[in-house]
Amino acid sequence: MQNISNNLNNINNEIKEFSKKYFNDKDKVNLIAVSKTFGVEYIEAAYNSGARDFGENKVQELIEKVDYFSEKHNDIRWHLIGHLQTNKVKKIIGKTSLIHSVDSLKLAEEINKHSLSMGIITNILVEVKISKEETKYGIPKEEIIEFVKTCAELNNIYIKGLMTIAENTADTDLIRNNFKEIKQLYDNIKELNMPNAKFEYLSMGMSNDYKIAIEEGSNMVRIGSGIFGKRSYDLV
Ligand SMILES: *Cc1c(COP(=O)(O)O)cnc(C)c1O
Repeated sequence: MQNISNNLNNINNEIKEFSKKYFNDKDKVNLIAVSKTFGVEYIEAAYNSGARDFGENKVQELIEKVDYFSEKHNDIRWHLIGHLQTNKVKKIIGKTSLIHSVDSLKLAEEINKHSLSMGIITNILVEVKISKEETKYGIPKEEIIEFVKTCAELNNIYIKGLMTIAENTADTDLIRNNFKEIKQLYDNIKELNMPNAKFEYLSMGMSNDYKIAIEEGSNMVRIGSGIFGKRSYDLV
């Protein structure tokens, strides 16, 4: 538990350095502390060390944590980073700051529908599939622009950018090239400046590859084990 504070400080300092170096301090790199599988006491420790953005990948776990902290720390911003099934959308609308993992039109429409009925606009990112073989979810790169254009017509979602998960490989050159490609895609769509899709966030980089991701232009990294330690079990 004590390590959480040290880990967070180290990563925050590093990210600050990187922001200076790669963004001239014009843009800030946002750190999402990925708390999936870790109990509320871990979140409490990270909160007390300054973390305000937390990422979860399961709807039920997210809801339990949101409810637990809703009165205690109402300035926590919750991020859903894992695959979202359409039949679970209703449960989480209004509880998230950002849904990173929109990977189908059906899902986008469902989020839009429930947001409309609650009278809110839900912030989302579109998940890009880097490689056909390695990653399960996401929209293929070739289809992203059309997909964003279609989603931008839905009035109760706001597309804030793109998210991606690197391939599970030790080949850092490959990871870097993939990140470069996604950054280019992000910039291209950002330039279109669509009314419901003014891009602000490129969510890429995890504990093992966040330095490469920032070097290639990510401004939102999702770090779990680097902050909280090894997970005793892993649900993907
Ligand atoms: C678990 C997870 C992370 C964090 O992974 P670490 O390797 O522990 O940093 C980031 N993004 C997504 C989508 C995840 O599911």
